[in-house]
Amino acid sequence: MNTSSTRPIVLCLSGHDPSGGAGLQADIEALMAQGCHAAPTVTALTVQNSIDVSDFRVLDAAWVLAQVDAVISDLTIAGVKLGMLGSVEMVDTVVQILKRLPNVPIVCDPVLRAGGGGSLGKDDVGYAMRERLLPIATIATPNLPEARILAELPQGTPDQCAEKILPFCQHLLITGGHGDEHEVHNRLYSRNGSFRTFTCERLSGSYHGSGCTLASTLAGRLALGEDMMHAVENALSYTWRALRDADKPGAGQHFPRRL
Ligand code: PLP
Repeated sequence: MNTSSTRPIVLCLSGHDPSGGAGLQADIEALMAQGCHAAPTVTALTVQNSIDVSDFRVLDAAWVLAQVDAVISDLTIAGVKLGMLGSVEMVDTVVQILKRLPNVPIVCDPVLRAGGGGSLGKDDVGYAMRERLLPIATIATPNLPEARILAELPQGTPDQCAEKILPFCQHLLITGGHGDEHEVHNRLYSRNGSFRTFTCERLSGSYHGSGCTLASTLAGRLALGEDMMHAVENALSYTWRALRDADKPGAGQHFPRRL
């Protein structure tokens, strides 16, 4: 565990959601709740509310690099969380950034769709993440629809998708929140062959920002020095509680209560 008086700092490269349910605000809240500090670098701006996304704009690479330069020339980064990147060019920019942060745990949430179904990136963005980002990430956390895109298996089971994605990454957590069974099965696959399923009760709502909450909590837990198994277990149970206590602030999805 980190014993210094400074909270571990997690660099978040994600999009901004003006409704505050997902994106960087989700990262900041979830990381605060773990006792970490978020350094939020904006990769994209979105237009959305609790119902769905109507538009997004990816920032210029130079702006993202300038934000990161300012942060990493000053702060010590203990973990990285990657969320919405939005374009293949932004994936390449992030690859450049990560090369400057060796030996830091990196959680990659391959965001391609909003909870309401709207696009936050074309499938090509997912393929670029798979080819160039997953090999340098510590863990990827797709939900099953995202895993099917990464695996190019539109009807694939979690195991079939994992077989296709695992050659690109060390650890892979495929979450099961998008199904309709009574229980949710979240499956952690590791390149060394280890496998574990984490099962929880399915909650009845539809949630905005659950993937962001999980991935940033996991980045925080790894930044605090937890091993992968405990970090995943703790991140899943924190996220489940945030969903159980969620608010319904508008006409669409519930927002997790992270603090
Ligand atoms: N990142 C941003 C900026 C978003 O706007 C969204 C969803 O709208 C997401 C990520 C993904 O959200 P979720 O955690 O619901 O998958």
